[in-house]
Amino acid sequence: MHFCIRDDDTSFFTAPEDLERAYGEVTKHGPVSLAIIPFCRAGSSKGVPEKYRRRWSIHPLDENQALVDYLRDGIAAGRYEAMLHGYHHDQPDSQLEFADGRDLSERVRHGRAYLEDLLSAPVRVFVPPKNAIGKQGLHAIARERLNLGGVAGLRSGWSPFSPATWITWFRLRRWRARGGLGVPWILDLGDHKEIAGNPVTPSASLRLNECIFDQAIRVDGVFCAATHYWELDTSCQESGIATVREHLLRLIARASNDQKVVWRSVGDVVSSMES
Ligand SMILES: [Zn+2]
Repeated sequence: MHFCIRDDDTSFFTAPEDLERAYGEVTKHGPVSLAIIPFCRAGSSKGVPEKYRRRWSIHPLDENQALVDYLRDGIAAGRYEAMLHGYHHDQPDSQLEFADGRDLSERVRHGRAYLEDLLSAPVRVFVPPKNAIGKQGLHAIARERLNLGGVAGLRSGWSPFSPATWITWFRLRRWRARGGLGVPWILDLGDHKEIAGNPVTPSASLRLNECIFDQAIRVDGVFCAATHYWELDTSCQESGIATVREHLLRLIARASNDQKVVWRSVGDVVSSMES
């Protein structure tokens, strides 16, 4: 089975110390794939520091040189992978950037080129802000030959005219009918692939994630833990788990202690796995 970690919301507002505190120790054992916002708009997201929230000003990543240096070094050392996380992320009209927004092809093309140039690294995966994507957004990432961090589904953009859609849909339906949890494979939709993220957040259940993890091992599939560096110290709602960080570390321990598990970056997992 493949294991990977996806962390969303690295942006101009991220200090290198934030990432180092979150992942300095973790990345000694395996890589963390960072979904990075190239031109972060200071909206209402929790990843934006409170004093900037709802200013709606735009902050290019390159204006935080200390972070750029840290990311370049970390990526070159194999500790981090860069993924694209929207373009501005927040929309002033409370719309969802990649479900409702316009100019999505241009945003994907330019956002990717900007990150690749700035960080001297390939970008292979797109993670939509707030996990929301639609038909136009999917089309935009497929055109750029990017894969999706997340699962769009029939209602959010899978083409009803593509045989790959129905093969995937029936496979997932069969999996669920037999009690399957999560989505333990890379989904091949023909013009792009998708990798489900299993939320590691304050409201997420470690017990459920452990069940999904065990099922993924049984089918020699994939488990992607999806979290945010800015809420690792937040308390968990589930009893017996102190913080989001503890939840994540328990999953990492499970992955590290099982010889059947291979820990790779999200991009490596998506591109190396047979669907
Ligand atoms: Zn985000």
